[in-house]
Amino acid sequence: MPVDQDAYQQLKKYCDTNGVQLIAVSKTKPNEDIDLLYSLGQRAFGENYVQELSKKFEELPKDIQWHFIGHLQSNKIKYIAPFVALIHGVDSLKLLQAIDKEGKKINRIIPCLLQVHIAKEESKFGFDTDELRIAATQIFVEKKFSHVSVNGLMGMASFIDDQQKLQAEFQKLKSLYEEIRSTYKPDAETFNILSMGMSSDYKIAVACGSNMIRIGSTLFGARNYNM
Ligand SMILES: *Cc1c(COP(=O)(O)O)cnc(C)c1O
Repeated sequence: MPVDQDAYQQLKKYCDTNGVQLIAVSKTKPNEDIDLLYSLGQRAFGENYVQELSKKFEELPKDIQWHFIGHLQSNKIKYIAPFVALIHGVDSLKLLQAIDKEGKKINRIIPCLLQVHIAKEESKFGFDTDELRIAATQIFVEKKFSHVSVNGLMGMASFIDDQQKLQAEFQKLKSLYEEIRSTYKPDAETFNILSMGMSSDYKIAVACGSNMIRIGSTLFGARNYNM
């Protein structure tokens, strides 16, 4: 399935109008598809798999900002740590600690988001509310981590059509984001990303305060995992 250029232009316009950053999720998609969006001006791309991301980083233009949006295993941090623009899915203090350690090793402060568990229907990765508060204390009050920069929160809603339930999940994440800003006082210029919304639910997410959306199938077509 080819890249939908019209969908891209529309989405770009929507994002510019709403002050939202668009991450084009290119997992499982070939370099030609990424090149095409690149030629239209897109620079931020999202990937879920370390090996695939490393290969694309080697092969594609160096000014692409690569966002890692998948579940990251500690033993694979080292492969993306030198270049990754933002790790969205930090879902435990243990993982944050491991990223911090890698950052020290290569002398780089690695930008991260904390992933919060908001979906009611499925079990997904992420901090629950209590864990998030504990993490925020360690990160922003005790300042335990010198080589990660925690720039905001990320969440995935349930895979459902019920608009009200989706809205409730996104609102929960937005209110946790506000709570962290007001209670733990991170640098407001740095802690300013709320990554929520995908192809099926981004409009609700943006209405609930998202300022970064991760869009795959609307741009690249349905994914085929058996390539
Ligand atoms: C695959 C993926 C997306 C994009 O999903 P689409 O429904 O294709 O837009 C967004 N966020 C995460 C975390 C993903 O894994």
